[in-house]
Amino acid sequence: MYLTYYNGQWAEGNTPLFGAMDHSVWLGSSVFDGARALRGHLPDLRPHLERVVTSAEKLGLTCPLSVDEMEALVREGVARFPADAELYIRPLVFASEGFLIPTAEAAAFALTLFDAPLPPFAGFSACLSPLRRPEPTMAPTDAKASALYANTARALRDAKARGFDNAVLLDAAGNVAEFATSNLFLVTHDGEVVTPALNGTFLAGITRARVIALLGEAGVNVVERTVKAEELDTAREIFSTGNYGKVTPCTRYETRELPAGPVARQARERYLAYTETT
Ligand code: PMP
Repeated sequence: MYLTYYNGQWAEGNTPLFGAMDHSVWLGSSVFDGARALRGHLPDLRPHLERVVTSAEKLGLTCPLSVDEMEALVREGVARFPADAELYIRPLVFASEGFLIPTAEAAAFALTLFDAPLPPFAGFSACLSPLRRPEPTMAPTDAKASALYANTARALRDAKARGFDNAVLLDAAGNVAEFATSNLFLVTHDGEVVTPALNGTFLAGITRARVIALLGEAGVNVVERTVKAEELDTAREIFSTGNYGKVTPCTRYETRELPAGPVARQARERYLAYTETT
């Protein structure tokens, strides 16, 4: 089921939101986020809602609702689904008015919730994308801006055409940034657990931060540093973090098979245990 809140009302189905003149439709002035409800638990909901506000600000938009107001709506929406539902929660802020520059005060808000079972701890394949993440002077890379996802779609389409599920994107300097749709962790050939240090070119994932903290509590130190593409060729484990799949092992990188390894498994288990506390 799709459930959308817009303009003070809840509606089921693919609710129309846009007008033909809306700035966001023509010129990409929209930001969104993705959070999850897992059997009544709402892991890191507030950071996701806070990021909607800051993403909007980075595009010069003003989110018309406060984080508290958005949280209340999310809880209201979740309560309309069965208690054991696994949902995807998507708040959206988009500009309606403005010709070239969107009118910040006229930004609108919509919230969509829909059934999306948490994918199992099953492996996915990934290749190295020919596309790179733009650097901050080239695009609003630190916002979850819809416009950036045109490149995500290009990278995924290319990966799928080559027989892979996902793609690793390098940053503009040629170092590993993230997967097309999630952040990237690896365990190097000598056992160091690493994730690319935030450098403003890719999303500062909320799941990424949570997994670093949870692994740290378990005595596994995650090193945030520059990661060279070649390190992926010799890694013992590669895995992704993101709100949709949480922690998912990459079990084929280019031509090489990798295990769904112990660090990824531990991160996934700890994340799910943490979810129960939210
Ligand atoms: N990078 C990209 C490009 C994403 O779309 C996502 C999913 N939001 C992530 C990383 C992971 O971020 P988070 O853990 O905050 O969902």
